Amino acid sequence: MPMASGGGSAGAPGGPVFTLGTGPSGSSSRTVSALARPVLHHLDPEFLALYAGAVELLHRALGGELAPVVLQGEAVLGLEAAVAALTRERDVVLCLVSGDFARGLGDWARPRAREVVELDVPDGQVIDPERVRHALRERPEISLVLAVHCETVAGTVNPMGAIGEVVAEAGATLLVDAIASFAGMPVDPAGWRAGVVVAGSEKCLGGPPGLSLLYVSQQAWERIEANPAAPRGSFLSLLDWRDAHLPDRAFPFAPSVSDVYALHACLEQYLEEGEAAAWERHRRVARAARAGARALGLSLWPREETTCADTVTVLRLPPGIDGELLLRQARSELGVLLTGGQGSLAGQVVRIGHMGPSAFPLAPVLALAALGRGLRAQGFPAQLGAAVEAALEAL
Ligand SMILES: *Cc1c(COP(=O)(O)O)cnc(C)c1O
Repeated sequence: MPMASGGGSAGAPGGPVFTLGTGPSGSSSRTVSALARPVLHHLDPEFLALYAGAVELLHRALGGELAPVVLQGEAVLGLEAAVAALTRERDVVLCLVSGDFARGLGDWARPRAREVVELDVPDGQVIDPERVRHALRERPEISLVLAVHCETVAGTVNPMGAIGEVVAEAGATLLVDAIASFAGMPVDPAGWRAGVVVAGSEKCLGGPPGLSLLYVSQQAWERIEANPAAPRGSFLSLLDWRDAHLPDRAFPFAPSVSDVYALHACLEQYLEEGEAAAWERHRRVARAARAGARALGLSLWPREETTCADTVTVLRLPPGIDGELLLRQARSELGVLLTGGQGSLAGQVVRIGHMGPSAFPLAPVLALAALGRGLRAQGFPAQLGAAVEAALEAL
């Protein structure tokens, strides 16, 4: 059982904990073994080879012509670094606000750019490429577009292929946060014609939080190199880490050695399973979570089922239900870790993550059983039996 670990507090001390939240998503024993390896010096030839190997595996997973970049900090570092690298003082930036993560991208751009224009997406909906086209026509000086692929806060997935097409036609650069989708759903930076796509290790790859994984296109590198405001000699610098995997280059500073071991192991497992097989696994589990949640008596936050993410299911809390209490009891009494609403959705929704190791067939059943029990305790007539039947049927 990949996510079971000694955590205590759920009945028997040290009993299993089922981590079914929005990431970190648990780790396989193979990943944990990789983390437990002795910490080599970062200039040790064995580590240098492993680092280069990890970048090569990541390159296969992210695609594109150029080698990707690994930054030594949890995925948010990658987002901030990418915004800092791409934003020029004269830029008008378009931020596609499909949720709080997207709004955050705009917040990083604002002090660095001339202006940030926000395109708001109504609650539970996804970005409409035609609205993006319209926004770009209205402000032809927009040169950078910020977007999130899977908006974890809302459980939605934006149509990046169509958005990328519109952005490319307007001659702007596209930055995409694919942290919650990479390795759980198709992420195609080159196909999206994206400049930069940021992924992380702690969601669908099943690693610890600690590394940022970045696809950067040739065009984006040219923009970054020519941008005097792009960080250099900084923890945020993409340029400093660009060639760190090459044999004749030095690391700007010591990389997170253990996290790199884990990344290597996670990527091996992802590619051994096969990307298509991993995506299909997420798709089935998400389908089961949605069917079960409906049968339980809950409704989905996303307006349309076709826009639901395969990696996280966001459910509206019925009126009068205390979401915090629900989650606290699920964790302390049943050992099931779920996630509540974030930002503007705090108190309104509950989120079931099915990412990487936590996207296993019975995960939705466990999550729904824990939810249903807590909802009943608060007086909501949750249909537990029907939920289990529906989830199993949908698998
Ligand atoms: C998880 C996630 C991040 C990283 O955020 P943390 O709170 O540091 O985990 C960024 N963007 C998206 C869409 C995410 O799901």
